[in-house]
Amino acid sequence: MSSNKQTTANPAQGTIPAPLSNYKIQYTKIFINNEWHDSVSGKKFPVINPATEEKICDVEEGDKADVDKAVKAARAAFQLGSPWRTMDASERGRLLYKLADLVERDRLILATIESMNGGKVFPAAYVMEIGFSVNVIRYFASWADKVQGHTIPVDGKFFSYTRHEPVGVCGQIIPWNFPLNMLMWKIGPALSCGNTVIVKPAEQTPLSALHVASLIKEAGFPPGVVNIVPGYGPTAGAAISSHMDIDKVAFTGSTEVGKLIKEAAGKSNLKRVSLELGGKSPCIVFADADMDNAVEFAHQGVFFHQGQCCTAASRLFVEEPIYNEFVQRSVERAKKYTLGDPLKPGIQQGPQIDKEQHSKILDLIESGKKEGAKLECGGGPWGNKGYFIQPTVFSNVTDDMRIAKEEIFGPVQQIMKFKTLDEVIKRANNTHYGLAAGIFTRDLDKAITVSSALQAGTVWVNCYNMLSPQSPFGGFKMSGNGRELGEYGLHEYTEVKTVTVKISEKNS
Ligand code: ADP
Repeated sequence: MSSNKQTTANPAQGTIPAPLSNYKIQYTKIFINNEWHDSVSGKKFPVINPATEEKICDVEEGDKADVDKAVKAARAAFQLGSPWRTMDASERGRLLYKLADLVERDRLILATIESMNGGKVFPAAYVMEIGFSVNVIRYFASWADKVQGHTIPVDGKFFSYTRHEPVGVCGQIIPWNFPLNMLMWKIGPALSCGNTVIVKPAEQTPLSALHVASLIKEAGFPPGVVNIVPGYGPTAGAAISSHMDIDKVAFTGSTEVGKLIKEAAGKSNLKRVSLELGGKSPCIVFADADMDNAVEFAHQGVFFHQGQCCTAASRLFVEEPIYNEFVQRSVERAKKYTLGDPLKPGIQQGPQIDKEQHSKILDLIESGKKEGAKLECGGGPWGNKGYFIQPTVFSNVTDDMRIAKEEIFGPVQQIMKFKTLDEVIKRANNTHYGLAAGIFTRDLDKAITVSSALQAGTVWVNCYNMLSPQSPFGGFKMSGNGRELGEYGLHEYTEVKTVTVKISEKNS
């Protein structure tokens, strides 16, 4: 490992250091019982840098046999009387606070890994991916000794109370777009409530989770509480969702795979399922909106991290009187990007995660051209190596086009025109998805009316993508089941037990 001293000024966040140059990956094995294991099959898989298409390293490839080993470890750690089950709840919180401190200590390493492996531009990796992760762990650390039941008023000859008990062994399947955030969104509430976990990071981006595994051990979590099994979805992932001895599965990823997970849970042991899936989120700009603010948020809403966000504002509805000016300003904004290696200073857009996503996005762009949308800028691949795509803006988009219906997960903005409030509400809700939405207006009545009418788990007014550890996040309709973050996020990780005790008549 080596570093250079170069730094980038960021007025909002203080100084962002330069990434580590030539960082050598330290952890590539399967983490079970606080130890590193080779895969049972002996197989490994390559991890790629999407900006260069070069291999970073090989990682041990977990499959069913490795998941079985991890489940045994997690089950043993969850046994009644184990150190984890008997630990004072405040001590669980202290371990999580320690983990947050260690992630913060290794922020530069983790941000370098996320930028190199996940294609995230380094300042976003450093500030958002790692910074938000630390905040999420601290938030859930603070809940560890505050999750409590009630005493229930029943017939006076009985005493009744509830206990909020951990669900048990939880499988957690993570996507590649926010590898560290998604890890913390999942292990944070699970550990805070006293569960044990088996995490499967995405095959494209397992490296930051494996680094965190080393921090789990350093923080002092008992063996078996956190197990991390890298591997592919249809093998290691499916072994988790269909396992008979896993009590709950949490998943973030595509709607297609979300359906498979729920089906596997139903066909095996009816394990609890929480899902955070895709989206095709509407962003509605009324003619009275603050134009500068709306253009910028609508832009960031779809272009942040190369469009690879489940919340991407990929259906932008703009009211007729301001439509032409809005399109013109959005195109100017999209043309300002500097593309390139996300580890380099000044780069604002990195590569898409892999060849498959790159091809899928280009196919959707072609469909937009063929179906008659007006290509305002971009519209093709960029550079001669790496999975880059030019920032692309389409205007004159209609609701029946594929680019207006399918999740693109790329730097592609669709701008549609609307005339009335009722019309835009109907059109915005005309989708199977329901993850997020944005509204831009200065009219409070309009903001409240539309935010009540939209079928979405999160509605942002005059802003977009403003997430916080305290606020619940999740989807309506086919964007998911359950909520993550906030107090609601804890509910997914406890079982409520009612205990009713007969009071001896001798004492009454
Ligand atoms: P994307 O399409 O964006 O790659 P996926 O939904 O395929 O997203 O992947 C998200 C996560 O789900 C990854 O960790 C992946 O390995 C996992 N996964 C993919 N297929 C399955 C499956 N059949 N069962 C369980 N997990 C899966």
